[in-house]
Amino acid sequence: MEILAVDHPLVAHKLTALRDVNTDSPTFRRLADELVTLLAYEATRDVRVSEVTVDTPLRAARGVRLTRPAPLVVPILRAGLGMLDGMTRLIPTAEVGFLGMVRDEDSLKAQTYATRLPDDLSGRQCYVLDPMLATGGTLVAAIQLLFDRGARDVTAITLLAAPEGLAVVEQAFPAETPIRIVTAAVDERLNENGYIIPGLGDAGDRLYGVV
Ligand code: URA
Repeated sequence: MEILAVDHPLVAHKLTALRDVNTDSPTFRRLADELVTLLAYEATRDVRVSEVTVDTPLRAARGVRLTRPAPLVVPILRAGLGMLDGMTRLIPTAEVGFLGMVRDEDSLKAQTYATRLPDDLSGRQCYVLDPMLATGGTLVAAIQLLFDRGARDVTAITLLAAPEGLAVVEQAFPAETPIRIVTAAVDERLNENGYIIPGLGDAGDRLYGVV
């Protein structure tokens, strides 16, 4: 597994504003969207392309085009939805699947309540979107679901990750499994309720309000 904490002043600037308890929901949504686009730029460094030749007005030029099948972007509902536009802005031709997962706040275990994914993911590069990698349970369940459908190449994009969650994902899959985690920062730890410290609070609530 590869972990990339993106080290860039614009990423740090936007993340700091997201952490700020005084940032309101509309601003939080806009900043999360912008931050995901920056993270997606790094996360797609290995996106598969094929060589092509196009005609410029002057002569032929060699270049590349995204390979088919198109990458699959999988936001984990609810909070992952706040990352979708930032991702598809960078890869408009990506297809989008959905996973509805909820964390049981007592056991901290992930439960899947909705799945909308292609049956066969062999050969697909998959990009999972979930803002907070906390205990790791949700991400392990999501990656396992994608692997069960044939995916072999999974990148998770998160705004924040906890060291405990990263360790859980690392231990859940064999070392050589091609899993990448791209995040704006790895924070200090989890608290007793499974929240990331210092974190940014409940990402879903901050994006969409408390429901
Ligand atoms: N989910 C969140 O939204 N925030 C955390 O800190 C942990 C899990």
